[in-house]
Amino acid sequence: MADRFRIFQQPAKSILTRTSGFIAQAGFSHSLTPARNCTFGCVYCYVPTMGIYGGLKPDDWRRWGQFTTLKQNAAELLRRELRPPQRIYCSPLVDPYQPTEALQPLMPELLQALIGHPPQVFVIQTRGPLILRDLALLRELAVRATLRVSFSITTDRDDIRRLYEPHCAPVPERLAAVAALNDAGIAAQATLAPLLPCDPEALVDAACAVSPYDIVADPLHLRTVKRQGATTREQAFRIAEHHGHLDWFDAGFQRAIVAKMEDRARRRGRRFAIGPEAFSWLAQPNLPRA
Ligand code: SF4
Repeated sequence: MADRFRIFQQPAKSILTRTSGFIAQAGFSHSLTPARNCTFGCVYCYVPTMGIYGGLKPDDWRRWGQFTTLKQNAAELLRRELRPPQRIYCSPLVDPYQPTEALQPLMPELLQALIGHPPQVFVIQTRGPLILRDLALLRELAVRATLRVSFSITTDRDDIRRLYEPHCAPVPERLAAVAALNDAGIAAQATLAPLLPCDPEALVDAACAVSPYDIVADPLHLRTVKRQGATTREQAFRIAEHHGHLDWFDAGFQRAIVAKMEDRARRRGRRFAIGPEAFSWLAQPNLPRA
């Protein structure tokens, strides 16, 4: 695994960033990004399209997924910057349980810092079953703050997962991780985003089976709909064209898929939303269970 990417370390000047855009609209006050560049390297990842606005260096967006730069003083900075009213999203720019976390862990020390100085809300956005390694610390934090795990499940088809996110864990393993978190008392949402080719109704059913919470989803971002800001990487379009999936990058088709999912969720007694409205549920101190 380590042959596929390199790991660098660098001290950072700060660790919490005031939010803007999508995450601010959702109600988060700060984001926490423990590293620059993500070694999951998903072909559609929005982050490299942000360039310098995401705090990236040119090498990050040119060689996305091939290395990561860990913020070596992240825990020390976090202890200094945490305040009780903060609603923190971790992270809009990197998966905190990316593959390098298994080799050079940052999260246990960051969770210790959060336990010592709890914010109001802390949301971990991940697709890494490695999060289960830190279950004991997560449980301790959940006693002191509103802790929520937003676990990305992008399709119900593992053949699709292998095309668009080959370095991420298989779909069944991810669903099992969501179930294990909820069984352990950690509020974990199956976040259906970005929506890759799938059976949309089966995907809603799978989310409902592993999580008692409402359904958060988001179709792939498109320049035709979203004129500015982060968007889907070009590489994803090339793969979609080759495999006959271009419908999934069409706004009208996406609306029809979302409508089907919403209908299925409603029949299952769950609320369903996309975009900042859906992500705002994650930022709420009290999230209703279905
Ligand atoms: S896990 Fe998230 S941040 Fe990392 S490459 Fe995939 S989409 Fe991008």
